[in-house]
Amino acid sequence: MLPRIVLVALGAFLMTSPAMAQVDGPKPFGKTADGTPVETYTLKNKNGVTVKLMTLGATITEINVPDKQGKFANVVLGFDDVAGYQSDRNQYFGCTVGRVANRIAKGKFTLDGKEYKLAINNEPNHLHGGVKRSLDKVIWRAGTARAEGPGETWHGVEFTYTSPGNEEGYPGSLKVRVLYFLNPRNELTISYDATTDKATPVNLTNHSYFNLAGAGAESVLDHELMLNSDEYVPVDKTLIPTGKPAAVKGTIFDFTKATRIGNRIEKLYDTGAKGYDHCYVLENDREKNATLAAKLRDPKSGREMIVSTNQRGIQLYTGNFLFGQKGKDGKEYKQRSGVCLETGGLPDAVNQPSFPSIILRPKEVYRHTCVYAFSAE
Ligand code: BGC
Repeated sequence: MLPRIVLVALGAFLMTSPAMAQVDGPKPFGKTADGTPVETYTLKNKNGVTVKLMTLGATITEINVPDKQGKFANVVLGFDDVAGYQSDRNQYFGCTVGRVANRIAKGKFTLDGKEYKLAINNEPNHLHGGVKRSLDKVIWRAGTARAEGPGETWHGVEFTYTSPGNEEGYPGSLKVRVLYFLNPRNELTISYDATTDKATPVNLTNHSYFNLAGAGAESVLDHELMLNSDEYVPVDKTLIPTGKPAAVKGTIFDFTKATRIGNRIEKLYDTGAKGYDHCYVLENDREKNATLAAKLRDPKSGREMIVSTNQRGIQLYTGNFLFGQKGKDGKEYKQRSGVCLETGGLPDAVNQPSFPSIILRPKEVYRHTCVYAFSAE
């Protein structure tokens, strides 16, 4: 599997260069409400697959991949312009989420004897890093990047951002880097690293909403999903974990075999989640290489996406809170017209003593790899 190449490549041969044919950018995309320019970069491989990224939120704005007949479509939800991304129609479409993705109960945690209070932006909890200066809302520095693997060159974009101490209430100045690489095998690798000058929680993810029939297609209920996980994290009505992970066997949460997303989802309509919005536990060690986490397939188009990661969890979120907002090309995004597969740590880990720690300390390096591999047949 790929991640080995990435780790080798990033460790030894990462280079940056301004003029590479396979990366088109920077290109102006528009300006934020306060007048800051936003730029895009487009990665393209020899198969014609393209991935478009932007500096606002180190965000994926498009992924264009072929179906079984070779017909290309963009498979991630997004907007045509910066104003769309800055509007309340944007529910974290394609962005880098942090400093802590997912929920923190009541927006509070205690670290090294000190209590920290964060914004309550998803009553009564903290969600996805805060309100104004969460990682999805800031402008990242960007440059092209290249990695040499055995017999293969990968082209990509490097985004960096330093979040000052106390930004959104989190301790420590956090230096974050996100690298996106597209390789000749239609694999998009996202590689995150971060360092801090003071102990702080870190849990980054990418929040792309996928619809393999093409963004704007009615729903993902007919997609088939396999999750390489025997356990999920049960949650209360505010979507905070209620305790230890539970076995999926014999429940509506069992995706150990490829199953149509829509088969059992109705049982969740009357819950706080309104569908799947649950974290699955993966048997990973975040220092190690990525392993298989999920397979998503649209039977009609034949498009398939395999997700691999070195993280301990993957959040399955079936777009339950989409409300019919207008997105790219005037398309309407209704409830369940996209599915997120967010790799990362377990939710509310800062308040759940039995969950793997997400605390990063000075001199340590946070490392997260997520690979989205596309094919069609
Ligand atoms: C969460 C959802 C939340 C959504 C926001 C997902 O990652 O799990 O509960 O509503 O992000 O767009």
